[in-house]
Amino acid sequence: MVKDKRGRDLRDLRISLTDKCNMRCKYCMPKEHFDSKHKFLPRSEILDYEEIVLIVNSLIPLGLKKVRLTGGEPLLRKDICELIKMLPEELDIAMTTNGILLEKYAPKLKKSGLKRVTVSLDAIDIETFQAMGDTKETPETVLRGIETARLAGLKVKINTVIRAGYNEHSINKISERFVGSDVIVRFIEFMDVGETNSWNLDEVLTGEQMRKMFESLEMVQPNHNGEVAKRFLHGQQELGFIESVSKPFCGDCNRARLSADGSLFTCLFASVGHDLKAMIRLGATRKDIRDAICTIWESRDDAYSETRSTTNRPKIEMSFIGG
Ligand code: SAM
Ligand code: SF4
Ligand code: SF4
Repeated sequence: MVKDKRGRDLRDLRISLTDKCNMRCKYCMPKEHFDSKHKFLPRSEILDYEEIVLIVNSLIPLGLKKVRLTGGEPLLRKDICELIKMLPEELDIAMTTNGILLEKYAPKLKKSGLKRVTVSLDAIDIETFQAMGDTKETPETVLRGIETARLAGLKVKINTVIRAGYNEHSINKISERFVGSDVIVRFIEFMDVGETNSWNLDEVLTGEQMRKMFESLEMVQPNHNGEVAKRFLHGQQELGFIESVSKPFCGDCNRARLSADGSLFTCLFASVGHDLKAMIRLGATRKDIRDAICTIWESRDDAYSETRSTTNRPKIEMSFIGG
């Protein structure tokens, strides 16, 4: 087991499989910045599946328990089911997706060993959905994907980013939509990730403000240390609130992130990563990689969400580093 400077474990690895996406959510990949002139990673710069698995295997002796496949949009990555089959079975394997391609892939994902899927859905009315995602896709496509995933036996959570002035009404609408199902809905405060999403504090609706939109909520104890969402029961329905802006949870953050081009980041708000791809392509063994990550993690002191008001350095985009 490895611990960082603040005594935090390395339990969770988020792997960005691609920096590309089939949506252009304004809070993540605004079209003005991610247009035809934007240089996405060339294929040769992206880690192949053997390289990803080498990194994952090197992390297991350090305490890794969970892997989340993300992006960009992970379902755009070719043969993603092959990667899932190659990952060690002892890990809890999850995915975060915008759900556009989920109806097509859910049964195959489940058969390949995926256990859980988090689907991003910011609205169920078409106008807000298309405005938030800057897309012609429809919420119906995502809802069909969610239903197919449930029927295939995947556990489903919903992530809803709330941006004040855009989709506050989704708080009640989306929770109502999933009453009586086993789908857990989590509301996320609009975060200041990256440099392109025109974030400003006035557009952040805090978890506390969101909770006022429900008549009664009962707090639920966390399942484990490092849980990102505060959980509540609304009658029988479980709701979560991810309050990274108003109530930072750096204290027990046990997440590392691997970008599609093979850099390891120790914080969502980091400016630079550690290039593991170069090591691998120079012939590094599993032990070499483990030793390097051990050194990186032991010198980790990140706590951006707790110190954001005093930090002023350029941040990497979420679609690149993996949400
Ligand atoms: N494309 C996939 C998706 O949307 O689920 C996976 C990658 S996306 C970067 C991962 C998560 O980050 C999504 O749930 C998305 O809503 C969230 N996200 C992106 N930008 C955000 C922001 N500025 N504030 C809060 N959450 C954000
Ligand atoms: Fe794409 Fe996900 Fe970012 Fe939306 S949040 S632009 S779906 S990567
Ligand atoms: Fe973890 Fe960085 Fe987020 Fe804090 S700001 S919870 S250290 S990823």
